[in-house]
Amino acid sequence: MIEYELVIGIEIHAQLSTQTKLFCSCPNNFGDIPNQNTCPVCLAHPGTLPVINRTAVEKTVKAGIAFHCEINSFSRFARKNYFYPDLPKGYQISQYESPVCSNGYFEIKGSDGLPKRIRLRRIHIEEDAGKLMHETVKSGSLVDLNRAGTPLMEMVTEPDFSSADEVYDFLVRLRRILRYLNVCDGNMEEGSMRCEPNISIRPKGSTQLGTKIELKNINSFKAAKRGIEFEFRRQILCLDMGEKLCQETRGWDDNKGESFLMRTKEDAHDYRYFPDPDLQPLRIPESLIKQISETMEELPDARKDRLVKVYGLSENDVEVLCSEKTHAEYFEKTAERCNDPKLAANWVMGEVLRVLKNDSNLESFPIQPDRLGMLVSLIKQGKISGTIAKKVFELMLKNPDSPEKIVSERGLSVVGDDDSILKVVQEIIAEFPDQITQYLSGKEKVFGFLIGNAMKKMKGKADPAKLNQMMKDEIEKKKNM
Ligand SMILES: [Zn+2]
Repeated sequence: MIEYELVIGIEIHAQLSTQTKLFCSCPNNFGDIPNQNTCPVCLAHPGTLPVINRTAVEKTVKAGIAFHCEINSFSRFARKNYFYPDLPKGYQISQYESPVCSNGYFEIKGSDGLPKRIRLRRIHIEEDAGKLMHETVKSGSLVDLNRAGTPLMEMVTEPDFSSADEVYDFLVRLRRILRYLNVCDGNMEEGSMRCEPNISIRPKGSTQLGTKIELKNINSFKAAKRGIEFEFRRQILCLDMGEKLCQETRGWDDNKGESFLMRTKEDAHDYRYFPDPDLQPLRIPESLIKQISETMEELPDARKDRLVKVYGLSENDVEVLCSEKTHAEYFEKTAERCNDPKLAANWVMGEVLRVLKNDSNLESFPIQPDRLGMLVSLIKQGKISGTIAKKVFELMLKNPDSPEKIVSERGLSVVGDDDSILKVVQEIIAEFPDQITQYLSGKEKVFGFLIGNAMKKMKGKADPAKLNQMMKDEIEKKKNM
């Protein structure tokens, strides 16, 4: 039996977060009324001319810098000719032999757990096509050209991946970086990020590349992982049965968990690429590259390092807090407000992320860092207990008042006066004589039970430190009696 290994390269299309389309001033918005965002340029009326969107170029350069690419001072747009109903011009403006960025790399966690470098062959700019809708009408199809002409950045890696897990790790990290840089919102459901793995297998140890199969219609990172794993098994089965693999494009059906043949692969010359005569070559001066790299947002790894250094947080904590840029920002603001980074981190990772679930949108979260910071301060100052704080947090989700106001209006602040606590402690000692005897005979666990009951009696409002001390002191007195 021959043992096989996987060889994978990926193409990623990331929609650039710009206000307007790539070559006209139509809005670059998802979800608008079909064909609302169109004009003579993106509808390809005769006599119109494209004008390049500067922000799209700058964002691509920014990504190129983040991925250690060479930024080419000279690049050119090319026409990729193909005929399809969602492509008004009958060609797509892309870049062919001279992309904006080339020869970069990206670090991931390899299958062996060690850092692994994935080479990026190129990053280029191109326009997206429109969208065909087949299901909305009984016969025929409808076309929505809102997406036609929106800016995409296409990234192409070398075939450096050797497992589905490596690809998954890459996609998660890539998405995070693009979101940190405000280059792409990374919204998979809206199609802002799409990936196409090229998958081939070869006998283990061989240096020759096998026949590559391109996988399309991948709509999530999990689907990419499943699709690659499926292809690995399918291709081995084909070869074992004596069949020959041929270069083809296959679709992925995530419900069935299977790939299916779409078409045998076109070669590049089928597209009849040639430089677009309507657009000037793109010249990117050194000064612009310098300016972009100097004003670039902090990258996730740099932020993690800083959070460990500045706030003394653990590696695990910063991993969670930096998974999204918005989470990290939210944490930092909370920490500043309450001046207790560890407690702030616990609250963000615990309560805030619990309520937020999978939604990464913290902007509309009802408790903003300022108010969470005030709440954490109240705990820190001993004005409320941790248990009460959770109750206040729940109230704050619906009530826009300050935590202080909520605490005082509902009488939730800690009871710190010695008399009230002492009274309860004495009551508890009288109520549970057996447990007191057990405790005195060395069964220290019972102490928690006694404190729990005392807290219950005080509706969670006793100052915990004081309660603990008084309980100990009173039991001690009993012992000496
Ligand atoms: Zn337009």
